[in-house]
Amino acid sequence: MRPIERLMEKIPADADAALVASGHNRRYLTGFPSSAGLVLATRETALFLTDFRYIEAARRTVRGMECVEYASLSATLPELAKRLGLRCVLTEDEGMTVAEYRRFSGMLPGVELRGGVLDGLLGELRLVKSPEELAKIKEAQALTEYGFEHILPFIRPGRTEREVALELEFLIRRQGTEGVAFDFIVVSGANSSLPHGVPGEKAIERGDFVTMDFGARVDGWHSDMTRTVAVGSCSDEQRRVYDTVLRAQRAALSVLRAGLRCAQGDAAARDVIAQAGYGEHFGHATGHGVGVEIHEEPRLSPRSGGETLRAGSVVTVEPGIYLPGRFGVRIEDMASITETGCENLTKSPKELLVL
Ligand code: ZN
Ligand code: ZN
Repeated sequence: MRPIERLMEKIPADADAALVASGHNRRYLTGFPSSAGLVLATRETALFLTDFRYIEAARRTVRGMECVEYASLSATLPELAKRLGLRCVLTEDEGMTVAEYRRFSGMLPGVELRGGVLDGLLGELRLVKSPEELAKIKEAQALTEYGFEHILPFIRPGRTEREVALELEFLIRRQGTEGVAFDFIVVSGANSSLPHGVPGEKAIERGDFVTMDFGARVDGWHSDMTRTVAVGSCSDEQRRVYDTVLRAQRAALSVLRAGLRCAQGDAAARDVIAQAGYGEHFGHATGHGVGVEIHEEPRLSPRSGGETLRAGSVVTVEPGIYLPGRFGVRIEDMASITETGCENLTKSPKELLVL
């Protein structure tokens, strides 16, 4: 069943329709990328509204929905609302700006725009990937791994972080991906202690750890991966920290399965790092869901409460240790949750490479 059909089934009896405006949720429902448009779905009908720039391509691509062209949304939307007899429409709280909400309210006088429900419905749908969606994520991950394999010979003393980031992006995009998943992180030496550092003009030096966090996008579906490599040489302490992160990462991967509390998934990695004495240097969550957004539900976090993992979710497992002003290590794979465990979608080696 298509995502739009699953959403239509879930519209509660006390509402007439769902209005989806955010780019990622529109794309999730239509499979079609556009900078403008709306999905309007009742229990019986699904419409994709968009303008002249997109309508031809939308009609060719979008399945299971009627594509409606508008010249002026403020004329078309009220007309449709009247025709469909809408009195209560579910809207997103997340991904809709206050300005958009006001605009829709102005266009639909007498229609109740109800927040608080739709984000949950969409979140629930997006939590479990269909086999087709999982295949897209795997395709994105394969391109990402191509990038990793081919960037390794490029990394050497004298290259700047920015050069490595650009080359890695070029390698991945040249393979035909729709785009990269996010601005790549390439940090080296002391900068590698910055979990989300920005690649700069710093040249890589012998003895540096280089951490690369990168991913691709295929038909809107993301991949996400991190590797840390050593350049030239590696101290005993660097190796100890690396091995600790790797053990933590494997520990978390070994416990993931449907029904596990997300917080336990996080704890499996966190405990290994704490026992090695680096607990205070691991300040982020162990993992996050990946899909039409690079960060989505579920979260493998100490703050995940009683939430449990579902079969079909795709999560990252990415513990790290960051020693301020010195160096850092993060290792990140993506895994697809099954009833009995998980399938690791990341095939690249993760034993410490000294280039
Ligand atoms: Zn990442
Ligand atoms: Zn990540």
